[in-house]
Amino acid sequence: MSVTGPKLQPTLFELSGTGRAAGRRIPAPPADALDRLPAAARRAVPPALPEVDEASLVRHYVNLSQLNWGVDTGFYPLGSCTMKYNPKVNEWAARLPGFAALHPLAPDETAQGTLEMLWELERDLAEISGMDAVTLQPAAGAQGELTGMLVVRAYHRARRDLERTDVLIPDSAHGTNPATASMAGFRTVNIPSAPDGGVDLEAFRAALGSHTAAIMITNPSTLGLFERRIVELLELVHAAGALAYMDGANLNAILGRFRPGEAGFDVMHFNVHKTFSTPHGGGGPGAGPVGVREPLIPFLPAPRVLRELGGTFRLERPGERPASIGRMRGHVGNVGILLRAWAYIRAHGADGLREVSDDAVLAANYLRGRLEADGAYEVPYPGPCAHEFIASGAGLKRATGVRTLDVAKRLIDKGYHPPTIYFPHTVDEAMLIEPTETERLETLDAFADALLEIAREAHETPELVTSAPHSAPVRRLDEATAARQPNLRWRPENRAEPPRPG
Ligand SMILES: *Cc1c(COP(=O)(O)O)cnc(C)c1O
Repeated sequence: MSVTGPKLQPTLFELSGTGRAAGRRIPAPPADALDRLPAAARRAVPPALPEVDEASLVRHYVNLSQLNWGVDTGFYPLGSCTMKYNPKVNEWAARLPGFAALHPLAPDETAQGTLEMLWELERDLAEISGMDAVTLQPAAGAQGELTGMLVVRAYHRARRDLERTDVLIPDSAHGTNPATASMAGFRTVNIPSAPDGGVDLEAFRAALGSHTAAIMITNPSTLGLFERRIVELLELVHAAGALAYMDGANLNAILGRFRPGEAGFDVMHFNVHKTFSTPHGGGGPGAGPVGVREPLIPFLPAPRVLRELGGTFRLERPGERPASIGRMRGHVGNVGILLRAWAYIRAHGADGLREVSDDAVLAANYLRGRLEADGAYEVPYPGPCAHEFIASGAGLKRATGVRTLDVAKRLIDKGYHPPTIYFPHTVDEAMLIEPTETERLETLDAFADALLEIAREAHETPELVTSAPHSAPVRRLDEATAARQPNLRWRPENRAEPPRPG
């Protein structure tokens, strides 16, 4: 596929011309500079870098940035991802030089402010979740899951309870849950949903036993539903000697309303980049702290941040807590992301955080209500949703041949980022829509209008929808190949291959 088109940018290689590199004017290095490098480390052939003047370089990247979609450019209802507006004051806080310029290996004495901030954030997250202790080390939600499951494994092993091989996972869980359980060495057992979208208690009871290490449950689930049978589920899990893991990435729905630790969950992770304000979406940095109940504290990753009696802070020393599962990541975590979370939590306070969730749930139910009232799409699960909801284009497809994928592509023409589609897999032609608390009523209405207008177009001029997008820089991409063979290497079309490093 060509990367140049009317709205696209030529690559830097295509803009390149010999002698145009602004970098050429850097003062000459000392004549013996190369002699100081070992011969084996020197290039035989110059690197194949493009040569571009500075103005072209700046325009190239600024124009590219304007092709990007972000929550700062428009509505982004990508379900399960919580693409909400992030207050810019948190960006300011994360760039304060005392934090941003701290060396990751700085001795504890010169890192007191950062250690204190991390210690406070651990306590805030423990308070919010009802857990007894929190580690901030994991670099993302999925790594938090892995951390949590390694802690679960360490707990059972420490008790010489060695036959617990199974992790039960409802089919409404996030896809990372079974992947994590497998990576941590467990066998995953899929538990079907009941017709109301909750866990099927009978199937759950049948799968549970002395081989069960844990249940991993996404709550609210990827159907946007709060699990109503939590009390029974947790009683069964604990009676079987197993532990309960909650995927807390959907915490945006339950702040100040439900504390997983208080309800009886033993371990959970947070997606601070979703719930507590970090711009994310390009696969960029995140953080996935993990909270645990008292009996699991000895196994948390090392080093933990400790507060000494005198009020100073330090990191645990190597080997100080022998039962620890060890390090999950370098240093103490993604501090810039954690600092944004600290600032966000402090700015909102307890009442503000509860309001975040109340508004997120209200927005989702409003949008859900508008679609349900119209009937062009099905809204499969009855009753109120949490912070996101499922709509289905199955009926529309039967009537018009237009698929949910086409609806999503047509939304781009109407100025919207599509919702999550074909996930969860348990719903035919699914759309998982999460508006978040930061959108105003007018935006929600305009988005609902756009979806309903597309349904009308599907009946009247289906080819307009099936050939969308019409206004985007590129039309339909080969998504299967993009996912299976993500080979993004550029090759010149009609010029000789630029020299490659020797
Ligand atoms: C986003 C998400 C995850 C994974 O988190 P990452 O930070 O992307 O690794 C796990 N579970 C749920 C429910 C999520 O929404």
